[in-house]
Amino acid sequence: MYDILEIRKDFPVLDDVIYLDSAATTQTPVQVVSAVNNYFYKYAGNYGRGAHRLARETTNHYEDSRENVARFMNVDPSKTIMTKNATESINMVALGINWNLGDHIVTTSLEHHTDLLPWMRLKEKGVDMTVVPPDENGIINPDEIASSITDGTRLVAVTHVSNVFGSVQDIGEITRITHKAGVMVLIDGAQSLGHIPVDVGSIGCDFFAASGHKGLLGPQGTGLLYVREPEIMEPSYFGGGMVHSVTTTGFELEPCPTKFESGTPNMPGVIGLGRGVEYVQNVGVANIEKHEKSLVKNTASRLAEIPYVEVYGPDDRCGVVSFNITGLNSHDVAMILDETSSVCVRSGYHCAMPALQSIGVEGTVRASVGLYNTQEEIDTFIDAVSQITSLVG
Ligand code: PMP
Repeated sequence: MYDILEIRKDFPVLDDVIYLDSAATTQTPVQVVSAVNNYFYKYAGNYGRGAHRLARETTNHYEDSRENVARFMNVDPSKTIMTKNATESINMVALGINWNLGDHIVTTSLEHHTDLLPWMRLKEKGVDMTVVPPDENGIINPDEIASSITDGTRLVAVTHVSNVFGSVQDIGEITRITHKAGVMVLIDGAQSLGHIPVDVGSIGCDFFAASGHKGLLGPQGTGLLYVREPEIMEPSYFGGGMVHSVTTTGFELEPCPTKFESGTPNMPGVIGLGRGVEYVQNVGVANIEKHEKSLVKNTASRLAEIPYVEVYGPDDRCGVVSFNITGLNSHDVAMILDETSSVCVRSGYHCAMPALQSIGVEGTVRASVGLYNTQEEIDTFIDAVSQITSLVG
């Protein structure tokens, strides 16, 4: 049974606010905070360096976390790189591939800027880009991806779940048709991992990037990158902790993932992330999906019934409901919701300006849920929105 009251005990901050901004970052359960505290209080040492007990214990916990994260995605831990966020993960791919003049990338106008700007920057290297538009509900037609692939295409980069519409893309089909054309696929899983079951291993994509601080309930400053064939990428940073040997004239790198994690990593963050994944597994990601989908479905349909409210996105959505109130700026709505009802929502363009341009608006109010939100919280939120609309009526 989904015991929401038990879950909420693990997130003390929820006593004070109605938190509907989990798509930006989730609240952190006490178990994750304890794992981070344990690192500092009981065994803090540096990862991968040193023979003493603290260094060894830190390394073991760090590697256990990597293993948890990788198993959760059904992929090989040795191909799972710990990063500081999804942004770093995607930039590592953009910077790490040896691009050639005339290479081509297919992406979509649905993307978070994180899955757009790194590819746009490659124009300087002569890499061209085609941007596929979504339909009015934020869905990408896989056939449009297929027909955008040219002889020069090397990569298709697509978000799994839109952070603006909550629309879920058919990444299995997109991967299948892209691979059929001999092209690599990158999936931005920042809004899907931990919210819906994602079997990255079975999907077979070449790269899967995600944040640790969203659906996986890890601390901020954590993320991950899965790479199916690590040889395709060079590291972006060079220094300590990544080499097998160094002389004054050269160096030999360690294999993946070590060669991609130079410098002292975020040990407390990664160790906390491992605990966050365990938390998600204990609740069950299919249970989380069911709970969150029912909340957002209810939210969207009730918002749509309120006069002056326009809701965006498909009926079958994951985690996120975007809307506007006629005549009101989204930031003003967010401020009023906070001040009148302690409801925290995101407003503005959500780091996805082209996605908003596709529906002809500059910003939206975005309510996004986590495994800890209740129907009563949604009721309060809906009442608060209704009251605001009386200002424009
Ligand atoms: N992609 C999507 C779809 C997102 O929603 C976000 C976070 N808003 C990101 C990428 C970037 O994630 P991070 O901030 O962890 O780099």
